[in-house]
Amino acid sequence: MKKQISLFLVLSMLMMLVSGLSVSAADAAEKVPLIPGPGDRPIAIIKADDLTPATFDKFQLLYDVFTKVGVVGSFGAITHRCEGFTDAQWAAVEGWVENGFEIWHHGYDHDGVYIDGKFQNDADFIGRSADKMEMYINHGIDLFAAHGIKVQSVGVPYNIFDETFLTLLNEKFDGKITSVLNAKKPAFMTEKNLSFDCYQLGNRLDLEDGSMTALEAAKDDYQKAPNRPYYVVQMHAAVQAKDPDALKEAIVYLKDEVGCVFMTPSQYLAYCEEAANRVDTIEVIDETAVGGKIRVVYNGTEVDFESYDSVYPVIENGRTLIPIRALAETVGAKVDWLEATKKITITKGGTQIIMFLDNPDATVGGKPVTLDVAPATRNDRTMVPLRFASESLGLEVKYTQK
Ligand SMILES: [Zn+2]
Repeated sequence: MKKQISLFLVLSMLMMLVSGLSVSAADAAEKVPLIPGPGDRPIAIIKADDLTPATFDKFQLLYDVFTKVGVVGSFGAITHRCEGFTDAQWAAVEGWVENGFEIWHHGYDHDGVYIDGKFQNDADFIGRSADKMEMYINHGIDLFAAHGIKVQSVGVPYNIFDETFLTLLNEKFDGKITSVLNAKKPAFMTEKNLSFDCYQLGNRLDLEDGSMTALEAAKDDYQKAPNRPYYVVQMHAAVQAKDPDALKEAIVYLKDEVGCVFMTPSQYLAYCEEAANRVDTIEVIDETAVGGKIRVVYNGTEVDFESYDSVYPVIENGRTLIPIRALAETVGAKVDWLEATKKITITKGGTQIIMFLDNPDATVGGKPVTLDVAPATRNDRTMVPLRFASESLGLEVKYTQK
């Protein structure tokens, strides 16, 4: 009975984490998969549009709200208009960036283009002329670079995103533009099977449904799509500044209730790249021959078995058995227990292992496997074979005997 209760506790605790997250092919670029944050929590990327000298004060207000809540955001500069920043405004923007905020490139203007202080009302610019878009994006990148600010992401007004723009991104800004922030993957890309060389960050939570407060809009969009690895949180400073309290409530909701981890676009991409390249290692150090215990170290951190009721792993027939709760919590996996058939399901990322208590028949990703040592009950706890479970979850296993 005790065993069932503890497994039940694990289950309910793990269910608290956002489960069932998976990387959808539509979201993922080819380089590395876009993945959920630490502990399978979703990532929130704040995208606030239309930073210019005229809207600067509203962005400062947003910045103050976000820093009070303790999150970072990214601000979309209509870069040519930012030529008009005063020295004090540039200093403030530099301060935002120093504190972890990020400037993204608005792509181009809503109405036309300002180059070298001259406004050209140029309808041809809107999503059609590749040369002008290239010049304009480079102009913005250079303008902010002169103030030590790196602009790596672009968005496009009204989500006008066409093949010309896609070609530009893939061919002209190699390494400069690393991500595109817009509402969703454009239909023409799916239809023609086109891809980005940079990332499409387009899972949107839109805080700007005119009939709702920012909090209501955040809840509404989140409840429509609760299982995504990341969300671009869409807003305009000019709109949100009208009701900073509602904005604050929306951000607190995403942070504390949904459990989002807030990152800027480039922080998120760096996080994905690091996670994709990381090999998680679990090390078993057997000190039983010298009168000690069996210790387990995961990515350099030792598992504290005392906090698991001092139930330690055991070695039987040359195989290490580990309490399932300690293993699952250590490696961030989810466990389901079905009492009727004594079925144990371990899920981490896209991998699922199914085992049965006292039964050597198991499956990994649906493929049958026969275990040397079956999951068993020891010291009133469900124990599973450590090497088998860990390797099936993609971990590297090391064994040392002292
Ligand atoms: Zn805009």
